[in-house]
Amino acid sequence: MASYQFNVVGYVRSPYKQKFAIPRQPGLIPEATGYLELEPEYCDEAIVRGIDSFSHLWLLFIFHETADKGWSPMVRPPRLGGNARKGVFATRATFRPNPVGLSVVKLEGIERQNGKLLLKLSGIDLLDGTPVIDIKPYLPYSDALPDAAGGFADAAPQTAMTVSFSEQAEQFCQQQREPELQIFIEKVLKQDPRPSYKKQRDGEQSYGMTLYNYNIKWTVNGEHNHVTEIHRLP
Ligand code: SAM
Repeated sequence: MASYQFNVVGYVRSPYKQKFAIPRQPGLIPEATGYLELEPEYCDEAIVRGIDSFSHLWLLFIFHETADKGWSPMVRPPRLGGNARKGVFATRATFRPNPVGLSVVKLEGIERQNGKLLLKLSGIDLLDGTPVIDIKPYLPYSDALPDAAGGFADAAPQTAMTVSFSEQAEQFCQQQREPELQIFIEKVLKQDPRPSYKKQRDGEQSYGMTLYNYNIKWTVNGEHNHVTEIHRLP
């Protein structure tokens, strides 16, 4: 079997520090901003010349967090409640023969920081530290297909989840430098990041997650999330 080797062109800096809470696809949470930091070998303005005339980019990346767990010919898409099985090539699952992911993200700008070349992105669905192996501009004339059939994932997932914040949590968000932190947390919780089997449980359940450098605690009761406290991690 033929095999090819690729170089990592850069690494993602993301507010998502763990897989839990990352949306299933890009663009679902526009407030999710991050950076693609190019590797020193590609840290040259020439390599991105002209890129700023595109609003969106395709990123090809490695599912590095799960790559060592192998792959399965059939997977259970969360979209189908985690019960129905589909062929891996009929899904966007991470457990693939080659652990390669594909996301379209918004290009917010190009920045230089301490000699490093960074692409500022938004709407990302990528874990912090994700290795990127290629970047391509999104071409609306051929990449946008309004008549395409979306199979079992025909529209963006919807939930009826609501979100409230304690006084401490609300004040904490207002004091941080991320301008849209509270909206960001709200949108993450509205998409109900819990695994399917936990969604079926009755009574109040407590959860925690890390976004940026913040530990966020909340409770779920029925279809309501209440953010109880947020703390900065050491
Ligand atoms: N948009 C991509 C695609 O279609 O290839 C990713 C789709 S996959 C269903 C989305 C999930 O990938 C996210 O919910 C997150 O948990 C996971 N993910 C994101 N970055 C990852 C990484 N570096 N390693 C492993 N899993 C990752």
